[in-house]
Amino acid sequence: MIDNLTFNVAQLLKDPVGATRTGDVVADVGHLAPELQQVEDAPAAVLSGSVRLMHINDGILAQGMLHTQVMLPCARCLNPVSVPLDVELEEIFVPTINIVTGKSIAPEEEDRALWVDENHILDLREVLRQDVMLASPIHVLCREDCQGLCPTCGQNLNEGPCDCQPEPDPRWAVLAALLKNSE
Ligand SMILES: [Zn+2]
Ligand SMILES: [Zn+2]
Repeated sequence: MIDNLTFNVAQLLKDPVGATRTGDVVADVGHLAPELQQVEDAPAAVLSGSVRLMHINDGILAQGMLHTQVMLPCARCLNPVSVPLDVELEEIFVPTINIVTGKSIAPEEEDRALWVDENHILDLREVLRQDVMLASPIHVLCREDCQGLCPTCGQNLNEGPCDCQPEPDPRWAVLAALLKNSE
């Protein structure tokens, strides 16, 4: 799969303010946001959707609602959980070259991820990386009452109890002794 995260906005910047273009975003989430802890061997999660680019006074307004489905490990038992992600994009990109004169512009925007480069390429990669991370839950569970793993042997307790003996509660030992004496 070839990621599509860049758009040439030279013509759009020449068009009057208010002009729009639409484009399709496609990206492998594993490439886009490698820090997102997907389960190993998960099928490639594809982020896709359409974006609308509008020429505004400040530059290019990029808006879109993108979607993907990622496999994240359950926080308790580590089993894969399929998690749908809706990723909202809304950013203003600023030109670094005057499209008419070809002269450099020093953008007021300090975040270089929001600069349209000298070849009039608008690159969504960094903003979408951040948006994917924002949209991702920090804590996912395979089910609300997931029993997790036994801390001693690592058995998945959803699949049944393990052979580890639970530590006897000393209060029950006292009670048992009292009951025995009263017999
Ligand atoms: Zn679980
Ligand atoms: Zn155990």
